[in-house]
Amino acid sequence: MTKLPSLFISHGSPLMALMQTPAHKFLSGLAAMLAKPSAILCVSAHWESAGPLVSTVAIPETIHDFGGFPDALYEMRYPAPGAPALADRVVELLTVADLPCDGDTERGLDHGAWIPLLLGYPNADIPVTQLSIQQHLGPAHQFAVGQALAPLRDEGVLIFCSGAITHNLRDVFQRRSAGVPVDGPSPDWAVEFEAWVVERVEGGHLHDVLNYGVLAPHSAMAHPRDEHFLPLLTAAGAGGGAGHAIHRSFEWGSLGMAAFAFD
Ligand code: ZN
Repeated sequence: MTKLPSLFISHGSPLMALMQTPAHKFLSGLAAMLAKPSAILCVSAHWESAGPLVSTVAIPETIHDFGGFPDALYEMRYPAPGAPALADRVVELLTVADLPCDGDTERGLDHGAWIPLLLGYPNADIPVTQLSIQQHLGPAHQFAVGQALAPLRDEGVLIFCSGAITHNLRDVFQRRSAGVPVDGPSPDWAVEFEAWVVERVEGGHLHDVLNYGVLAPHSAMAHPRDEHFLPLLTAAGAGGGAGHAIHRSFEWGSLGMAAFAFD
């Protein structure tokens, strides 16, 4: 069985599903870059809980957890089967690592999971489940979760961590109301923050990435809250070292769309 990388991808705005942006095209080519996984474990910024939860649902529903977007987005479904056996394995691996994890019998796929998966694996024929994040426990916790999940990469599982390399929605809304198009110019703070992360990830300086809140330029502007950055730490933990950028672009000016593979 081919060992798979762990991935971090930026899911951007739900509109990415409808617009032929560079990030949309990158995700549409994802399956061709990788061996076909036996199952996918998605760690999305849009599922936060007190402690780790993993969905044991056999047929996950598509959750439209966004408001004010075109009807076409609400009509989209991602009908992949669930992955209860993988969920059991996740509970086992995290429990052994002293990171107690419970099964969740109801959770479907939020848009941080299903939109990039719809582009990357449109046939929806690979079982998928979701693992929650713990924003309040911070980057080191999310990194430890990734380290505990690393054995899955030898078991045909794609660890698919979904957040955003920069994520300041207030700024994005202001730009969109001011008429900035999806491919409009990016502010310096977003460009400098994104470049810092790429350099630190590719140089294997994961200690810096873990402490990005104090070390990275413009970190408070790039991430008023940590939740969209944290999946990057889980991907890095599962990847066991340096990663490399497999995509870089911005949408709506400040919304970074960078993606990394850790192998
Ligand atoms: Zn998001």
